[in-house]
Amino acid sequence: MLSEKLGLPIIATGEILRKVAEEETPIGLRVRETQKSGNLVPDDILAQIVRDRIALADCDNGCILDGFPRTLPQAALLEELADLKGDKIFAVKISVPRDMLWKRLAGRRICSSCAATYNVYLKPSKADGICDLDRGALVTRDDDRPEAIEQRLALYDEKTKPILEYYKQSGRLHEIDGVGDPLDVFSRIAGALGVTGIGRG
Ligand code: AMP
Repeated sequence: MLSEKLGLPIIATGEILRKVAEEETPIGLRVRETQKSGNLVPDDILAQIVRDRIALADCDNGCILDGFPRTLPQAALLEELADLKGDKIFAVKISVPRDMLWKRLAGRRICSSCAATYNVYLKPSKADGICDLDRGALVTRDDDRPEAIEQRLALYDEKTKPILEYYKQSGRLHEIDGVGDPLDVFSRIAGALGVTGIGRG
């Protein structure tokens, strides 16, 4: 929604890495194993991906990064890249209580043909395991299994949380309540970023 409103591309590093993981190459295999276990892909790989992606023309006016930065070295790299392009950084933290996060992750199901997303607790498909849109089979992401979720949340606490302080100290952190209807959450984000005339609010 934000991408549409601002006319900026979304760069979701998890998504880019899932494509890399499909490749039958040494790096593809390494990324696949790392994602499956819920661990973080090494910073040097992320640096290369983000550096190359941000250099494309559609990012001339900025971009929306989703899932990046996740470590302090990644935040330092982003600082460098933004400086070079003359871009400002707005950091958005979408806060969701842990028990709700578990539900969102463990309950998530994705259509294997059109990638529509469902949740067995929060947004079930009409027929169990089948996509409402194209009747594709619904699958669970490898890293939405309990052991991987544990690991992702532990790494969030250890590696990603310190970034919040970093952005807070420089007055660039926008904390958003991520509970509720997606349109409401979107309105809160838009409001915090000063983007007007959208959503309910
Ligand atoms: P996501 O789709 O953002 O939940 O990311 C899925 C997985 O991709 C993560 O659990 C990591 O294994 C990997 N990944 C995505 N973004 C990053 C990042 N910025 N740094 C390291 N690993 C990442």
